[in-house]
Amino acid sequence: IRFESTKAASIKSSPSMAVSMAAKAMRAKGENVIDLSLGEPDFETPDFIVEAAIEAMRSGKTRYTSPDGLEELRAAIVAKFKRENGLDYATDQISIGNGAKQILFNAFLGTLEPGDEVVVPAPYWVSYTDIVILHGGVPRIVSCGVEDDFKLTPERLEAAITPKTRWFLFNSPSNPTGAIYTAAELAALGAVLERHPHVSVMSDEIYEHIVCGDVPFTSFANACPQLADRTLIINGVSKAYAMTGWRLGYAAGPKSLTKVLNKMQSQSTTCPSSISQIAAAAALNGPQDFVTRAVAEYKLRGALVAKGFSAIPGLDVRPPGGAFYLFPKCAAYIGKTAPDGTRIGNDTELASYLLTSAKVATVPGAAFGVEPYIRLSFATSRDNLSIAIDRVADALGQLR
Ligand code: PLP
Repeated sequence: IRFESTKAASIKSSPSMAVSMAAKAMRAKGENVIDLSLGEPDFETPDFIVEAAIEAMRSGKTRYTSPDGLEELRAAIVAKFKRENGLDYATDQISIGNGAKQILFNAFLGTLEPGDEVVVPAPYWVSYTDIVILHGGVPRIVSCGVEDDFKLTPERLEAAITPKTRWFLFNSPSNPTGAIYTAAELAALGAVLERHPHVSVMSDEIYEHIVCGDVPFTSFANACPQLADRTLIINGVSKAYAMTGWRLGYAAGPKSLTKVLNKMQSQSTTCPSSISQIAAAAALNGPQDFVTRAVAEYKLRGALVAKGFSAIPGLDVRPPGGAFYLFPKCAAYIGKTAPDGTRIGNDTELASYLLTSAKVATVPGAAFGVEPYIRLSFATSRDNLSIAIDRVADALGQLR
């Protein structure tokens, strides 16, 4: 029996998950693998958040909530936007989901007609294009390589827009590149969109707090207030508060849009876990010193990997502006041969060579829609990163 539908067959499983599973399997066999493939903080969720969840369970907050979310969580999200971004949203302009990922699902499920186009700059987060395709949309991918500092220009955005364009979807700071847009760059993209009223914007700001360079974070909603009636800001607690397993994401936008998202939520998972909702409210309302400390550590790590990998001949590196990724171009190593005679034909084969010979797990650029690159996550200890730099330098040095 063929169970898989045409729709299901049109997408792939998350490639970064596949790499990290391979790395885990090698580790289980006793191999000393350093995993730089993961997109999640290596810190524990702060205690006060865990305590809030325990208290929620003990006090019986263990039931379905409204699909729109608990009032206390929506109020915490509204307060967050006001406090951190100076943005005014009402509670009915908020939507929540099981992670920012489900927000994307709800948004595309609820808004795309078959054949609608979504402009996505590449390299993109692995899930964007597949989520679009799954909901009948057509990703219009615009390549922005290291030569472009991984950023979309207004000219290229303009050229990618057609009468069928429904959304422009991007993230800053970026997974997988670490690039961050300045307020002026966002305003320039906004100026293009102003001329195309049929195009709405999804700005994925999940890495908002993780800023490693000199350019501060700017929310698209701050840079382009004139587009407020067609902008959906996506965020979540996964990255900022080390809460990836709690599955809680949120979005803010025009009420007519969040209403659609909430309807999709009501007929899919009903609501995110009530316990995670309370924990997320505690995270947003509580002391923010965990975020400050984590970001200080990411900055040190970002500087360490930028220096270490830049020093490896043949890697073209941009220091990360934010998030916890480095995305070196590795064209110099494609076409070379490993000591065992294997030819490295592309970045997927290079990542696989690094996994087997250097015992360092990375994700190939191909997974993010550009080649030849590798993505290195620095959400791991500085000691691990130093060892990984040495091992990768050594393994690449052995290619002829
Ligand atoms: N957006 C980007 C750019 C991400 O990198 C990730 C996670 O890796 C997500 C969204 C999903 O986050 P969540 O855990 O909230 O689903």
